[in-house]
Amino acid sequence: MSISYQFACTHCGQLNNYQVIENGEEACCVRCSSVLYRQRKHMFDASLALVVTGLILFVMTNAFPLIALKAQGVTQELTIWKATAAFWQQDYYWLSALLALNLIIFPLFELLGLLWVVLTIRFAWDKQWAIRIFRWLSEVKPWGMLEVFMLGLLVAVVKLGDIAVLVVGSAFWAFIFLVLSMAALTANLDRFTVWRALKACPSST
Ligand SMILES: [Zn+2]
Repeated sequence: MSISYQFACTHCGQLNNYQVIENGEEACCVRCSSVLYRQRKHMFDASLALVVTGLILFVMTNAFPLIALKAQGVTQELTIWKATAAFWQQDYYWLSALLALNLIIFPLFELLGLLWVVLTIRFAWDKQWAIRIFRWLSEVKPWGMLEVFMLGLLVAVVKLGDIAVLVVGSAFWAFIFLVLSMAALTANLDRFTVWRALKACPSST
C-alpha cells in the first residue's frame, strides 16, 4: 500500500512528499537538504538498551559521591543531593532549584518518558499516554542542560585540584557516561519515525 501525504520541513517550512525509505537511508528536504527522517534497523531495540543504561547510570550518579576533597586531614564528599541542599541552606534558592531540575528531575523524566514511549511501540500498548509524554518531552528538551553542567563540573575539578587533594568519585564517571548515553539516545531515536510508529499503535479512545 502506498502512502501519499506531505509534511513541512521543521527548518525551512518547505512541503515534502513522504517517501518510503530502506534501512540505513535518510530522507532529506528538497529545499535545505536537512534530514527529515531516518530509517534505522533495530532503532527501538537500541533505544531501549540506551534508556535502561541511562537509568542505571542516573541511579549511580545520584547515589554515589561526585567528588571528594581532602584538606588538612579532613575528607569532604560531594553528592548532587548534598550540593543542591547546601545551595538551598545558603539562600541560593534559584541555583538550588536549577540544579534539582537539570540534574535530577529533567533527566529522570526524559529517561522514564522515553522508556514508556519505546515500550509502547515495542509491545503495541495503548498509545494515549505515550503520545502525551513524547510531546511533553519535545517541549521540555530545550530546558535540559546536562551537558552545560558537565562542562562546569570538569572546570571545577581542574580548579579545585590546585587547592586541595581531589578524589574523583564513581558518580563522576557515571555522570559523564549518562550525558554520553543520553546524547546517543537523542541521536538514535528519530522523532518522525517515533510519531509514525505511535500512529500504528492501538488506542482505547
Ligand atoms: Zn528544509
